[in-house]
Amino acid sequence: MTTPEHHKVAIVGGGPAGLPLAVILGGQWPVYRGSALFEERYAQLHHLLERHSETLLGLDFRELCNLGIAPADLFQLLHHPGKKFRSLDQIAYTFQDREPLDYILITREEVGGLWNNVPRNLLTLSPGQWMEFGFYPLRQWADENGIDFDVNDLIIKHRLVEYYHSIPERFGQSNRIRTHENVERIEPHDRGFLISTRRVGSEQTFSYTSEYLVYAVGQRCILRQLDAPGADLPFVRSRYDRPEDIPGQRVMIVGGGRSADWAATELFDAGRDVTYVQRQPEARHVPLINDSFHLPYYRRIAEIMRTPSDRWHLHYETEIERIDAIGKGGRVQLRSPGESRSVDVDHVVLEIGGIADYGIFKGFPELSLVDKYDDYRFQVRQMRTHPHNYESIDVPNLYPGGYLAEGIGLVVYAMHGTTYAIAGDILQKEGIVKKVGLERG
Ligand SMILES: Cc1cc2nc3c(=O)[nH]c(=O)nc-3n(C[C@H](O)[C@H](O)[C@H](O)COP(=O)(O)OP(=O)(O)OC[C@H]3O[C@@H](n4cnc5c(N)ncnc54)[C@H](O)[C@@H]3O)c2cc1C
Repeated sequence: MTTPEHHKVAIVGGGPAGLPLAVILGGQWPVYRGSALFEERYAQLHHLLERHSETLLGLDFRELCNLGIAPADLFQLLHHPGKKFRSLDQIAYTFQDREPLDYILITREEVGGLWNNVPRNLLTLSPGQWMEFGFYPLRQWADENGIDFDVNDLIIKHRLVEYYHSIPERFGQSNRIRTHENVERIEPHDRGFLISTRRVGSEQTFSYTSEYLVYAVGQRCILRQLDAPGADLPFVRSRYDRPEDIPGQRVMIVGGGRSADWAATELFDAGRDVTYVQRQPEARHVPLINDSFHLPYYRRIAEIMRTPSDRWHLHYETEIERIDAIGKGGRVQLRSPGESRSVDVDHVVLEIGGIADYGIFKGFPELSLVDKYDDYRFQVRQMRTHPHNYESIDVPNLYPGGYLAEGIGLVVYAMHGTTYAIAGDILQKEGIVKKVGLERG
């Protein structure tokens, strides 16, 4: 057996959680610079930080927590002292070039994570700049690339994906990032972690060891499967991109979250005959719609639901019993309380979400997991972590990336700050960055 390739740190997952960590470990270190807005709104934090001339990666994160400030929140405030972006100089930290730490990032698709696969025309739920990284504001990216758009607007997928895709080269990290490689197994090893991978779509396998491991695989490692006979028929698909990909008039959407709402709305507006099947009751779906009127497609779905149409059939508390092939399409047998019916379709689109996969960890103490739900109707199992450095409470030197860490909100805006605490903790443990206590004024 060949000796595994060794790196100090391995990052698994190249989405909005794993990718910025690569850049920080790759030598972009944050330094406090203050800003008029930050100083005005967070004067106490400014007084704590203004004496701190070295990198913020050297902060005593435990002391910070003892002061009641979660590290992720501190970095969020430095990055976004106002929720609305006004100018680049409102950002209260800046970045300096330092020696990179030896790391590797392994991810099974392109960098940018699940954004590579969301529907083509789907807008973000929040302003574009809430999904940026502190070291490369969207405004800066747009200016450098001659793109004209308001970073406070909701952003369409392809813009965001272009932004994420630009990052490895822009920050000189491309040669440390292995895309299209799937991590199949992570085991304990004398040197820390043993990581076994396979190139996507091939039999080629690789192995790596690392002393630290950041597990940033997001909430869609394993897409949920429909548990019904016929779910694997060719006209049943588990990814929706755009109406043009779905031939035929009669489409059934299965789900009830935001992705399903988007697909149902877009397909209806493309002139299709839409049957929308949800397991949840109406009383759970309607509040999601009413709470989301800041998003144009929620105003539209509400309008569709109010307006009788023979192309729109919405069934709550309904399950799929079986799907049978008929010609190129099929017949779907539905069961609702006290009723069962069959619907003929050309396509079935499953938008039933996915789960974070902790099953690839073998031979470690059992990971403590907790369920997290948010207002956007996202849900994920998070790893229990120490609050000051987001390190697993069960396995030393294992860090769940982004919102896989306990208590972190399920959006980029909430999770991006964990990047700096994780990188800082690793660099402090390695003695590369000196821990500096906060002097209280
Ligand atoms: C429809 C939808 C809309 C959303 N809208 C917003 C929004 O507007 N604003 C917002 O902030 N957030 C939004 N989110 C939340 C979204 O999860 C985050 O934006 C972000 O993508 C999470 O980043 P991540 O890096 O944690 O995970 P991901 O983006 O999922 O990236 C993880 C990466 O790891 C890879 N991976 C997984 N397992 C392995 C493995 N075993 N080996 C190798 N690679 C692996 C995955 O393929 C993926 O590329 C939305 C989510 C969805 C589904």
